[in-house]
Amino acid sequence: TATLYLVATPIGNLDEFTTRAISVLEEVDVIAAEDTRNTMKLLNHFHISKKLVAHHAHNEKDSAKGLLRYLEEGKDVAVVSDAGYPLISDPGYEAVRTVLAAGYSVVPISGANAAMNALVASGLRPQPYLFYGFLKSGTKEQCEELYALKTMPYTMIFYEAPHRITKTLQNCLEILGDRNMCLARELTKRHEEFLRGRISEVLEAAKECKGEMVIVMEGCLEKKEKAIDSAILNDQISRYLEE
Ligand code: SAM
Repeated sequence: TATLYLVATPIGNLDEFTTRAISVLEEVDVIAAEDTRNTMKLLNHFHISKKLVAHHAHNEKDSAKGLLRYLEEGKDVAVVSDAGYPLISDPGYEAVRTVLAAGYSVVPISGANAAMNALVASGLRPQPYLFYGFLKSGTKEQCEELYALKTMPYTMIFYEAPHRITKTLQNCLEILGDRNMCLARELTKRHEEFLRGRISEVLEAAKECKGEMVIVMEGCLEKKEKAIDSAILNDQISRYLEE
């Protein structure tokens, strides 16, 4: 039966495109791309010529139905985004839901992911971690999100745009307190850089920073807040055991 492939593409360094990913793109009938022009450049680089259809945030639902029709005609489809894994802060989720609901198989093809590269080199505890994606851009909404994460004991990963990094780190400092973090920039590229330290230190350095970046934030280490959490948890567990 026809298959929907989720193909991860490079996040900078084209040498990170796997041979399997290239073969799958060569073999499928259609490639659904977040930005067909960007994907065309990638395909040209690897001498792949293929039918491209647009699959982006603004047409995701309709486009997912269109992709399903290809599968119904027995055609294999690959979903790609501009960089990294589709679905991960990128379009693709609607396609996966639609295709699974219709009983077709979905196959992921491994590759680069900015969050994983940032996490493993951050120097912060690698698990448990919370991948959050982008925080909201409005200050009030973002601060509410950060308040909700304040006592989270897991390492947290956020994506952020360079023009918002200073404001976001100021909000993090204000709400989460001056904890350890890592700002991972330009991953897999020539000017890859990791800024590690307290938020206040990284904030100073980040004022000069350009390019793509990932924030890796230490989880809450405060015993007091943890103790409250575990007291509530113990209470819940004992009540559950009593029932
Ligand atoms: N789908 C991608 C993935 O799997 O990592 C993420 C796409 S999301 C729209 C774009 C964000 O990912 C950027 O704003 C940045 O936070 C992060 N990102 C992507 N490429 C990066 C890179 N080479 N270096 C640092 N961050 C990157």
